[in-house]
Amino acid sequence: MTTKDEKLDNICEKYESLVSVEIHTQLKTRSKLFCRCANSYGAPPNSVVCPTCLGLPGSLPALNEKAVELGTMAALALGSHINMHSSFDRKNYFYPDLPKSYQITQHFAPLAIGGSLEFEKKGGRDRVEIERMHIEEDAGKTVYDEKTGESLIDFNRCGVPLLEIVTKPASLGPDEVYSLLNAARRLLRYLMISDCDMEKGNLRCDVNVSVMPCGSEKPGTRTEIKNLNSFRAVKQALAYEKKRQVGIVESGGRVKLETLLWDASSGTTALQRSKEKSNDYRYFPEPDLPPLILCEDVLHDIKASIPEFPSARIRRFMETYSLPLQTAELLVRDKELADYFENALRYYDNAIVLANWISGHLMKEMNERSKSIVSLELQPEHLAQIAELAGSGKITVVSAKNLLSKTIDTGQSPSDLLSKNDFSIESDENTLRELVIRAISLNATASRDYRAGKTESLQFLLGQVMKLSSGRADPLKASKIIEEMLEN
Ligand code: ZN
Ligand code: MN
Repeated sequence: MTTKDEKLDNICEKYESLVSVEIHTQLKTRSKLFCRCANSYGAPPNSVVCPTCLGLPGSLPALNEKAVELGTMAALALGSHINMHSSFDRKNYFYPDLPKSYQITQHFAPLAIGGSLEFEKKGGRDRVEIERMHIEEDAGKTVYDEKTGESLIDFNRCGVPLLEIVTKPASLGPDEVYSLLNAARRLLRYLMISDCDMEKGNLRCDVNVSVMPCGSEKPGTRTEIKNLNSFRAVKQALAYEKKRQVGIVESGGRVKLETLLWDASSGTTALQRSKEKSNDYRYFPEPDLPPLILCEDVLHDIKASIPEFPSARIRRFMETYSLPLQTAELLVRDKELADYFENALRYYDNAIVLANWISGHLMKEMNERSKSIVSLELQPEHLAQIAELAGSGKITVVSAKNLLSKTIDTGQSPSDLLSKNDFSIESDENTLRELVIRAISLNATASRDYRAGKTESLQFLLGQVMKLSSGRADPLKASKIIEEMLEN
């Protein structure tokens, strides 16, 4: 780092960034926002389209009720004020991936305003105020074909329902923005409002950022950063942009109102368009859709359908089941996993053993198979049986892990597998002795190391004994025998 950079870093500490975030998240509905096309991902290009989402003349939009429900649920979860009367407007602009040449959004009367999002930060928790939330439709996708140098357009995404959440500008560092995005994603996922999978473009965010000297009341001119493909990119872009803006201000320049694109490969922002003359989207009310009026009954039903919030559930898991915070958080990261844990508890009530099995061995199986708890198709009852067998010492932990893999592989019940295969614990003195002798003779260096004072060799040899016994050797007895033999 050059001294000039260091100097700028020091100066940066005397400035704070005002940041607001716009989160666009795809709502988890079966069909699109205004037509009956499936809201699906990964279909062949331009195969999930119809006259309405292609904007062909004569087609009319009809609002998807589920999208309103999910959007309202998100707004309630953030403590926003629901506008019982909201409406849709046209945002007009020309772009190849927008066949109608306008996007239907809620500009004048959004679904909800206000509320706040809580997030963790160094030394505690904080909250950021929400400006507004509204429902709008997604545009298509432009795909650049490197082979031919052509830009191709896939209209499948046209009309997919989006929820846009806009936060109020707040003095936030890059790490805090990162944390608040994670909090938003956790909540939306937990409530099954959106999958929030950034790789699939389910969740996209733009940030607005300006700088001002710490303690000042007058924020500088903001820039908007787009093309942020990961939360990590948001963090990096905010740090970069703060430094860039402070550099301009310190050298007597003026930050310009601009839209910038983040370039992840170079770690810099580049100008997309100048906003000196603000964009004119010629917003006007959508003439083909009536106002959206929520009635009290509907709102009541949506309220009733909201599950226990993640933060409350984490607290309950800690209090009711005596789980440590970390384990509770791990289980509650995913609503389906938390439900699974509580289902399994009905068959085996040792919460700590069960939670450890889920957060340890079971999550490892899920990761290795790239499966969610639902797609793994392991019955909670079966996991409970395995955890109980291991917890009570009827089989070794290694055997229980093998039994778990086999149960997942075959779909058979652990008791069936136990009757067909030998998972029983091997505690016969003579058999164990033979196994230890074999392990020692196969690993001469390990025994030499042990005698030379490397006690961790004992663990290694025990591992070998477990291997030779297909995980069935009683580990306590086996390690005693190993110790005995090595000492003599
Ligand atoms: Zn359609
Ligand atoms: Mn938008």
